[in-house]
Amino acid sequence: KESSSRENNVAKIKVVVRKRPLNKKELARKEDDVVSVVANGLTVHEPKLKVDLTAYVEKHEFCFDAVLDQQVTNDEVYRETVQPIIPIIFQRTKATCFAYGQTGSGKTYTMQPLPLRAADDLVRLLNQPTYRDQKFKLWLSYFEIYGGKLYDLLSDRKKLCMREDGRQQVCIVGLQEFEVLDVQIVKEYIERGSNARSTGSTGANEESSRSHAILQLVVKKHNEVKDTRRNNDANESKGGKVVGKISFIDLAGSERGADTTDNDRQTRIEGAEINKSLLALKECIRALDNDQLHIPFRGSKLTEVLRDSFVGNSRTVMISCISPNAGSCEHTLNTLRYADRVK
Ligand code: ADP
Ligand code: MG
Repeated sequence: KESSSRENNVAKIKVVVRKRPLNKKELARKEDDVVSVVANGLTVHEPKLKVDLTAYVEKHEFCFDAVLDQQVTNDEVYRETVQPIIPIIFQRTKATCFAYGQTGSGKTYTMQPLPLRAADDLVRLLNQPTYRDQKFKLWLSYFEIYGGKLYDLLSDRKKLCMREDGRQQVCIVGLQEFEVLDVQIVKEYIERGSNARSTGSTGANEESSRSHAILQLVVKKHNEVKDTRRNNDANESKGGKVVGKISFIDLAGSERGADTTDNDRQTRIEGAEINKSLLALKECIRALDNDQLHIPFRGSKLTEVLRDSFVGNSRTVMISCISPNAGSCEHTLNTLRYADRVK
C-alpha cells in the first residue's frame, strides 16, 4: 500500500452537490425554485397532487460533504473539490473528478474551467525547488467515450483502443499527449477538444450529452536514458514514467441512461451504454469506499478506462449538478439519490 499520513488528510471520496441558478427560460415561465441549501444540507420541495387533485409539497432532505449554492463561483468550486488533491498528485495519487447530472444542470459549466486551474497549480509546483530537479513534466490528453467507443478529441476524433499492460496500467493506444509548458495552451486544448465533442448525425449540440468527455493531466518523471530507448510503448511514447494523474470527466447526461425505449435504435443502444456506465461507476466508487479488493471496473468502457484510477492510492470527487426548477424535480431527485448512494 502506497500511502503516507500526509496523503490521508484528503478524503478518499468526496461527494459535492452544486445547484445552478434558475435560467432565463425558467424565470420567464415563472418556475419555482424548489431547492433550498443550508450549509452542507439541501431540501427539495417536490410539488405533488393528491388523488383529489389538491396540491401539496413533499420535502426530501439530503446531506453531503459539501453543497454549493447557486452564487458559488467556479473558483470556489475548484478550491472545494480539486485543489486539495493537487499536491498529492506528486505522491503517486491517481485522482478523478466527475460531473454528474441531467443535461442542462451545469456539468460542462462546472467542469471546463477546472483543468485550467489545476494545470496552473501543477505547473507552479513542478517549478518549485523540491520538484524542479526531478525532471517532472505535465502532459495533457482529451478524449471522449461515445457509444462505448473512444475518440481522441485533440486529433480529429481519431478512434482509439484500449489495452492493459499487465501492470494494472491502462494504455490508450494512439492517444495524443501534449506537454503543458505554459497554462495558456491548456485553455486552447480545452476549447479545441470541447468543440470536437460528438455532435452525432443531427449535428445538434445536445448529442454531446450522450458522451463522456475525459481530460487527463498526467505528471511524469523523465529519465534521460529511458527517454531515448522506450519509444514504442503507447503511454511512454513521450518518455517518462507516470507519477500521478488527475482525470476530469464530464459525464453523459444522466437522463440519457433512460433512453432505452426510444424509437431510434442507435439512441437505444447509446442509452443502454450510458446506463451501464453510470451504474458501473457507482459500483466502483462504492467498492473503493468500502476498501473492497475487487473493484468491478469491467462493467463498462468508462470504468475500464479509469481502472488504474480505482486501484492503489486514489482520490475521487463527485460533483453532482442539479437544476433548481420545479420542472426538473424528478431528475434532481434521481441525481441526489445517485450521489447519496456513492457517498
Ligand atoms: P450540462 O453540461 O449539464 O448539460 P451546462 O453546463 O451546459 O449543462 O449548463 C447549461 C446552461 O446553464 C449553460 O448555459 C450554462 O452557462 C448555465 N449554467 C450552468 N451552471 C451555471 C451556474 N452555476 N451559474 C450560472 N450559469 C450556469
Ligand atoms: Mg454539457
